[in-house]
Amino acid sequence: TTSLAELDPAVAESIDAELHRQRDGLEMIASENYTAAAVLEAQGSVLTNKYAEGYPGRRYYGGCEHVDVIEQLAIDRLKELFGAEHANVQPHSGAQANASAMHALIKPGDTILGLNLAHGGHLTHGMKINFSGKLYNVVPYGVDPETQRVDMAEVERLATEHRPQLIIAGWSAYPRHLDFAEFRRIADSIGAYLMVDMAHFAGLVAAGLHPSPVPHAHVVTSTTHKTLAGPRGGFILTNDADLAKKFNSAVFPGQQGGPLEHVIAGKAVAFKIAATDAFRERQERTIAGARILAERLSRDDVAAQQIKVVSGGTDVHLVLVDLSRSQLDGRQGEDLLAELDITINRNAVPNDPRPPMVTSGLRIGTSALATRGFTEESFAEVADIIAEALIAAAHDGGADPALLASLRERATTLAAAYPLYPHLA
Ligand code: PLP
Repeated sequence: TTSLAELDPAVAESIDAELHRQRDGLEMIASENYTAAAVLEAQGSVLTNKYAEGYPGRRYYGGCEHVDVIEQLAIDRLKELFGAEHANVQPHSGAQANASAMHALIKPGDTILGLNLAHGGHLTHGMKINFSGKLYNVVPYGVDPETQRVDMAEVERLATEHRPQLIIAGWSAYPRHLDFAEFRRIADSIGAYLMVDMAHFAGLVAAGLHPSPVPHAHVVTSTTHKTLAGPRGGFILTNDADLAKKFNSAVFPGQQGGPLEHVIAGKAVAFKIAATDAFRERQERTIAGARILAERLSRDDVAAQQIKVVSGGTDVHLVLVDLSRSQLDGRQGEDLLAELDITINRNAVPNDPRPPMVTSGLRIGTSALATRGFTEESFAEVADIIAEALIAAAHDGGADPALLASLRERATTLAAAYPLYPHLA
């Protein structure tokens, strides 16, 4: 019964410091969000004590009657949310979901076709030292150099030439919709499976504001903690009963041991929230905020500093800023915004001239701020703060400290206007 603060003040203090960091600054990492207090509560529950290898009604441990109810709720809500026939909610993360789906569908040595990491793909879509790059023969597709959008003619050409067993559609840093029907047509033309990894845009799909991959893909994988705003975790969806069995055995016992039932409870709560009108309204503000940011960063005063927005805009919750022609690089841009208490991450842009540790891009997302309640007016203010900082740093090679101090003041005033987790000390 000893409290955390009494038992382990070092850990308690850092958790408290992290709460204040999240509260006092503006979180704009595109893969992050603020999960609901109810999700935190479910995740911090006694469910963490329970072993439950297997699936609801078919466990290898006793005492699973309550976790069975919770996991079944998560499965049923998830199926309903995305209109899918089968769901597995056990993957511990997005990477685990992808590893399991790939183990189920293909063999080591088979060929996969995925979006180039340097063009916005994910590590699990074929990066050299990731399991996907080690186990499979990877053929990457990229974006068109002019439009900076996925080039479906190239996807088809590569698919026909290399005949992959699996095509992966999905991204970690790409600001546009993908054509899932066209991906499926190409996959069918060579007898390949299509896997869509909707980790980033799952919340937008749930809200009906982004095309759904579920009717088109053989399998859809996702994380639960990005736009979907749940606990950290993953899931797998399919409409094919035979594949569903394969995914279940690929997750357990193929890839994982005991499921994290406390996290699954958090997922169940998040899926309930994601089906509400309030969630849809939040996702509308998320997309509106990203559009406002893209428009502000496309204006003449920014363009005059050779700063651009990849693909000229956005359809989703993120904007990719292209600094490849600017004297400001990705690392400097990330550090600059950190000084304003705006957290983002540097990111490669397509055909980036700078090395991966530096990069020429900034990935800026609006999900967490929308969750916090940001209105379009507040998004316009944060867009202005970011634009002014980038212009000053790119123009002068280091922004004036007085300007930075005033921009930081504006950012922290904005954060203070939207209280975060007021129930926590
Ligand atoms: N898939 C995509 C498209 C992602 O962007 C990510 C996370 O960045 C993942 C999978 C992996 O998720 P996790 O970090 O939960 O393993």
